[in-house]
Amino acid sequence: MNSNKYQPVIGLEVHVELKTKSKMFCSCKAEYFGQKPNINTCPVCLGLPGALPVPNKKAIEWCIMIGFALNCQVSNFSKFDRKNYFYPDLPKGYQISQYDEPFCINGSIKLSNNKSVGIRRVHMEEDTGKLIHQENSTLIDFNRSGVPLVEIVTEPDFESVEEVVEYLKKLQQIVRYLGVSDADMEKGNMRLEPNISLRENTTNTTNKQILPIYKVEVKNINSFRFVEKAIEYEIKRQSGILNQGKNPIQETRGWDENKQKTVSQRIKEEAQDYRYFPEPDIPPLRFINSQISNLKSQMPELPTDKLIRFQKEYQLSKYDAEILTREKETADYFEESVRIGKLQKVSPKQIANILINKKVDFKNILPAKLIKGIVFSIKIDFVDKSKLRKIIQNVLLKNQKAVNDYKNGKIQAIGFLIGKVKQHFPKGDTNQIKSTLEKHLKT
Ligand code: ADP
Ligand code: MG
Ligand code: ZN
Repeated sequence: MNSNKYQPVIGLEVHVELKTKSKMFCSCKAEYFGQKPNINTCPVCLGLPGALPVPNKKAIEWCIMIGFALNCQVSNFSKFDRKNYFYPDLPKGYQISQYDEPFCINGSIKLSNNKSVGIRRVHMEEDTGKLIHQENSTLIDFNRSGVPLVEIVTEPDFESVEEVVEYLKKLQQIVRYLGVSDADMEKGNMRLEPNISLRENTTNTTNKQILPIYKVEVKNINSFRFVEKAIEYEIKRQSGILNQGKNPIQETRGWDENKQKTVSQRIKEEAQDYRYFPEPDIPPLRFINSQISNLKSQMPELPTDKLIRFQKEYQLSKYDAEILTREKETADYFEESVRIGKLQKVSPKQIANILINKKVDFKNILPAKLIKGIVFSIKIDFVDKSKLRKIIQNVLLKNQKAVNDYKNGKIQAIGFLIGKVKQHFPKGDTNQIKSTLEKHLKT
């Protein structure tokens, strides 16, 4: 079988949960991770009769900021709609979402191969409750019901798994930079739905504009790795069907990590099945231009711009700048260190080298201390965190008496343990060693 016979056509729908203090349409706390079930609830997010939703201004602003970051047009007119369907985690029997007038449309984002991926829309909606399946029953936790959710929909522009993963990482980095979501995949802050189809591989460009007549949507994936596997699996499965001269059916599937395959969930519903209609309890929203431009002026510097600026301003290689700007916290730490270092004639490059080559523990070593360490070059050995952990485990194991003394209240015993650890890190920072030791001793 010729694997290049078909060209993948992939579009992505990504849900990002916002980290606002309160929920989307009520004043309940939006934080639900690790909370006691059903404590952050009220008549609105429980869907009780007569309760009225009030949109969360911050969430809307953040949704629009995501739109800006993806080069979208922000609409002057927008509204909410009801998407009707029944499921036990949806107490109202409908989800408040946006149908034909989303906040943001027509964006794009550039990939490293210079390809521009179209962003079709960025809209605002609310999360559902959580079903907890037990042996013979299912429980429902409504703490998550009504948590602000932004959906970002691309055009079907991706042609490979690599492009998809690069886009997802970029998107995750952007929402983190904006500070609007932790985008923690494991916690379900970011959920992925690839739509996949295959077209005959051709150099004919007009043929490239025609979409396959079907698509398969894989729902609710919570890991980049699983997205990769689901897409790869679908490419194989669909090729097999096409090779038999048949067309894959349009359907929704799910990724089964145990079976390492996608499984059919339902034959795809159409938009009309949801009987979308304008949300009657929330008036349409109008933004005047100054409101939109005001929001735009509040946009922080985004990863791509920071990457370019770091290279120019600090004379760093693209490689170094890329590492330093990957996370905003690292970039900020670097810049703060550069500011302090300037007075002491420590160059940005020196600082970059240390941050990149030694795993500096940002939480325990403030920029000022880092610079001091560089200036006096002997004082601080920037202890590699994972190496430190290993050595501490070893020291604790071999010095049970001191450990027991400490645990029995003789806290001076820690001095002995610090000494043992320091044998491995003669110039190590005592505070860092001490605080890491304390953490280990608590467990
Ligand atoms: P639906 O209304 O079923 O949700 P949309 O047309 O709104 O479908 O598209 C949803 C997602 O599917 C978008 O990300 C879009 O880019 C993608 N998509 C549309 N057609 C195809 C196709 N033939 N193959 C792969 N993805 C597609
Ligand atoms: Mg869809
Ligand atoms: Zn509520």
